[in-house]
Amino acid sequence: MAYELTKESIVQDALDMGFSHAGLVDVSTLEAREEVRDMCAVDKCHGYNKNWSCPPGCGTVPECNARMKEYDWGVITQITLDMEDAMDMEAWTDAGKKLHDGQVKLNEELHKKYSDILALGGAGCNLCAECTYPDAPCRFPEKRMSGMEAYGLVVSDVCMKNGLKYYYGPDTVTFSGMFLIKENRARE
Ligand code: SF4
Repeated sequence: MAYELTKESIVQDALDMGFSHAGLVDVSTLEAREEVRDMCAVDKCHGYNKNWSCPPGCGTVPECNARMKEYDWGVITQITLDMEDAMDMEAWTDAGKKLHDGQVKLNEELHKKYSDILALGGAGCNLCAECTYPDAPCRFPEKRMSGMEAYGLVVSDVCMKNGLKYYYGPDTVTFSGMFLIKENRARE
């Protein structure tokens, strides 16, 4: 299936790819916050200071803020699954995997059309068995995705400010990702 991947088509393109929900992002609503990054420093994910996609390797909060503002528009992508109950860890795992797989596919499609994309997912990068951080540059910068929280974003806040829900009701789980696009860097 061919996708247009324009600002006008991207929401429908994302839905056609299998995301549950999608919505355009106004880049001016994005705000990296120190308090979100402070949660990364607790290192529950075991990525802090070990991976280019995680803090501090992905940049300081002011650097993340400045980088996000360089882009012209974006799209939020979400996977929502039903849970049998609040302890349905299988649904959580499935939702995280489906978001990741969808993000990888959309990232590949977007890179055919645009040369400068900031891809953010639900978690840090695990492409390599061992990350090169901090001794050598990232092996796959075009494939690498940081978590939205690694960029200091409050995901619920980003969704709300851009007309998307973050929570789709009891016994559902939702994972969110985002792509930012530089329009003037579209490939010919
Ligand atoms: S692609 Fe490899 S080197 Fe780059 S951030 Fe991911 S794990 Fe690290």
